[in-house]
Amino acid sequence: MKEGFKMQFLKRTWAEISISALKNNISKIRTCIPAGTEIMAVVKADAYGHGSDVVCRILRQNSIKYYAVSNLNEAVEVREAVPDGEILILGYTPPEYAQILEQYNIIQTITSKNYANFLSANAKKSVRCHIAIDTGMGRIGIKCDTPEETADEVEYISGLPQLEIEGIFTHFAVADSSDESSLEYTHNQKEFICSVADILKNRGLNLKHVHFMNSAAMVNDPDSRSTLARAGIILYGLQPNSAEPLNVKFEPVMSLKSIVSHVKTVPVGTSISYGRTFVTDKPMEIATVTIGYADGYPRMLSNKGEVLIHGKRCKILGRVCMDQMMVDVSGVDVTVKAGDIVTLFGKDENDEITADELADKIGTIGYEIVCGVTKRVPRIIRE
Ligand SMILES: *Cc1c(COP(=O)(O)O)cnc(C)c1O
Repeated sequence: MKEGFKMQFLKRTWAEISISALKNNISKIRTCIPAGTEIMAVVKADAYGHGSDVVCRILRQNSIKYYAVSNLNEAVEVREAVPDGEILILGYTPPEYAQILEQYNIIQTITSKNYANFLSANAKKSVRCHIAIDTGMGRIGIKCDTPEETADEVEYISGLPQLEIEGIFTHFAVADSSDESSLEYTHNQKEFICSVADILKNRGLNLKHVHFMNSAAMVNDPDSRSTLARAGIILYGLQPNSAEPLNVKFEPVMSLKSIVSHVKTVPVGTSISYGRTFVTDKPMEIATVTIGYADGYPRMLSNKGEVLIHGKRCKILGRVCMDQMMVDVSGVDVTVKAGDIVTLFGKDENDEITADELADKIGTIGYEIVCGVTKRVPRIIRE
């Protein structure tokens, strides 16, 4: 295959990234958070599947200074898109990469006292760090019974050579739920880290950053004690918890589109796709669509999902294959033909399917749907 052809956009299946939606979401987040709090854009996992390079450039043009990623490879990618950005790795980096962190001016999360010792030993000049405090997520971070003991550990780590401790942070487990016990749990998590920060301040250790708000928290319970607002899912316009929609409306940034490749009318009793899980009970008009689970469209949506064609909902018939699937177009008013656009999620005329809606159908979350769109699907910028 010639290089020139590969570079072209093959109209098969693609994800549209809306710059205006992303910009609107940034503006809305700014109206939610306290004046002294800055947005830290969470762009891990290739910006939740949206394409880190493009998303980061747009964020930078919209004055976003702070970025959070999951690992060193992602950090280096963001560094290229945003040369002057402050980039925090939220996850683990093997200590032997300390000098890469220094070279690219990346901020590393300290996951434990032990990790801090190793990172310090591997650093040459100075590695910038934020310390994770486990206040109830049970994932990473230093975990002590009291804020005092936690402050002791932070102080110890701050004294290690070649580590520059610039902040502490914690992560909420249930900030997206409004039942009484969740509210109390989140409150306790928050008060714990704020106590740690107060104790450190009294001991003369002033940290530039203390942060704890995720998407749900910055909308439901914004708190000016969090110097950064780690905005993830709302930046991309999806819900932290679709069962409890936020009272601020964000706009989905990604739409997933494909095309019709083949249309046929079939008689009663025709079985469709692998396993013969769907058999027509009447004559039907059926379209084949050029998307499958290898594009990240979940196979779990077999016989469950719907797509939009000419603004009409069409049901998936039978199993989703690796690269293709079939849908019922009997109810579409206009003649459906090869080349027609199919919206897997996104808007089409007066209807919209969201990634959250698809997620609900198969017991997952919108996050997993957008992160699951695979590499073979080109991300196309709209506007
Ligand atoms: C992923 C992540 C976030 C963003 O969460 P959203 O629910 O998408 O806002 C924030 N903080 C940490 C530590 C994370 O891992």
